[in-house]
Amino acid sequence: DAALVWCRRDLRAHDHAALYHALRAARRVWVAFVFDTEILDPLPRTDRRVEFIRDSLVDLDAQLHTLGRSHGTEGVGLIVRHGRARDEIPRLAAALHVQAVYANTDYEPAAVARDAQVRGALAQTGIAFHPAKDQVVFDTDEVLTGAGTPYGVFTPYKNAWLKKLEPFYLQAYPVGRHAGALAPRPAGEAAGVPTLAAIGFEPTNLAALKLAPGTAGGRALLEDFGDERIDRYDQTRDFPAVKGPSYLSVHLRFGTLSIRELARLAWDRARAGSRGAEVWLSELIWRDFYHQVLHHHPQVVERSFKPEYDKIKWEHGKHADALFAAWCEGRTGYPLVDAAMLQINQTGYMHNRLRMVVASFLCKDLGLDWRRGERYFAEKLNDYDLAANNGGWQWASSSGCDAQPYFRIFNPVSQSQKFDAQGKFIRRYLPQLAALPDAALHAPWDAKPLDLVAAGLVLGRDYPEPIVRHELARERTLARYAVVKGAR
Ligand code: FAD
Repeated sequence: DAALVWCRRDLRAHDHAALYHALRAARRVWVAFVFDTEILDPLPRTDRRVEFIRDSLVDLDAQLHTLGRSHGTEGVGLIVRHGRARDEIPRLAAALHVQAVYANTDYEPAAVARDAQVRGALAQTGIAFHPAKDQVVFDTDEVLTGAGTPYGVFTPYKNAWLKKLEPFYLQAYPVGRHAGALAPRPAGEAAGVPTLAAIGFEPTNLAALKLAPGTAGGRALLEDFGDERIDRYDQTRDFPAVKGPSYLSVHLRFGTLSIRELARLAWDRARAGSRGAEVWLSELIWRDFYHQVLHHHPQVVERSFKPEYDKIKWEHGKHADALFAAWCEGRTGYPLVDAAMLQINQTGYMHNRLRMVVASFLCKDLGLDWRRGERYFAEKLNDYDLAANNGGWQWASSSGCDAQPYFRIFNPVSQSQKFDAQGKFIRRYLPQLAALPDAALHAPWDAKPLDLVAAGLVLGRDYPEPIVRHELARERTLARYAVVKGAR
């Protein structure tokens, strides 16, 4: 009996649920990845994520080769296809004469629909499709209220999550013991992973960003964070100029590391008294939380979690488009917002505090529909994940579950004063403001004329005047959001 493991957002060969189950069940196991044209075709030809995936596959291929070798099998490696996954997987499974295809569950609605089609196509030829929980610690129906309903508020969800947690749930799925079942690539199957050019893409600045792909890249980051920075995470995580967070999101997104391994590290450290680890574990719980929100409420992809928020009339038309363009390009005149947008544009990463600040700015200072910002993030973020991104945007626009109350509106200047007090982050991305004194950096339009002259800065020439006045925007937002009041 033979099986095929289909990798998607789980690009590693250790602690891998689908691989574990396949190796236990079958005597010959192949592992495949499909560059799915349905996902890739709409993307620009330079997309960091495609390069990250491609380079991570090279690492995965090498890991499979080593695993095979450790059991005396030469020629084990990844099988790669480029086409529509819904056609390629049934075709490959049939050609390999496998009895079953194993895959780790992907919770995004488009993936769910694709997997249902693949399951149907496989069934026609008598091949089984086995999904496995891998990407989250707790599956979408494992943490429910006493009444058996999903949680819509984070804190009780988190408490129930922590209460349910036992070492069992964080155990690794060992693949080494049964790796003897890994079969060599079939005759005629090309070894190695296609180049970016072969799948129609171009290199990006991934290497220059030192964003090392694959399990090896993830492990290096984890060591850097997990050794001791994790213990200070509670104090450092909110300051974008400080190396506070783990930067592991892209690795979690593509599964080059296992969530169980990370949660185990955090849980052990938290139980040993590390406050930083406890707070970091909470972030991993947010990740599970948003996955179950998306599963139980797939309508959030299009609509507000709280339906009354879809009554809000957002700005539209030419002026709104110009505001949106200024936001995207980091030309709002609010230095922290602009520096954050330059960070995402140049690197594909944005610090969590800044994601909250710029998202709030879009909805509540510019009066633009959160969905525009969400789509922009979806194009740009290396770690883009529909569940977390939608959850984050709906949180910021106040339309989501357990969201920020709408009348609590971030002030972009005080956020800047608080979280980038010395302007280190701002100066990194906006060198034209570098010579301003710290106090003037957060709101250059209020700077003393002498300070502007001394810094050689002319507003409107070297750096934009603010495109909105926060105090006025705040009033407009309160009026705009009034339609949701009492609507529940
Ligand atoms: P750390 O602070 O080290 O956190 C560790 C891990 O926990 C992260 O890698 C991530 O997997 C998870 N995590 C942390 N915060 C959250 C959260 N609020 N929700 C869900 N998971 C979380 N995160 C994404 O992974 N993809 C997205 O597309 C995404 N979009 C966002 C959009 C907005 C508007 C906001 C406010 C937040 C968004 N986040 C998203 C959550 C968070 O900003 C990032 O996960 C975090 O900044 C990634 O950096 P890190 O790996 O250094 O995080």
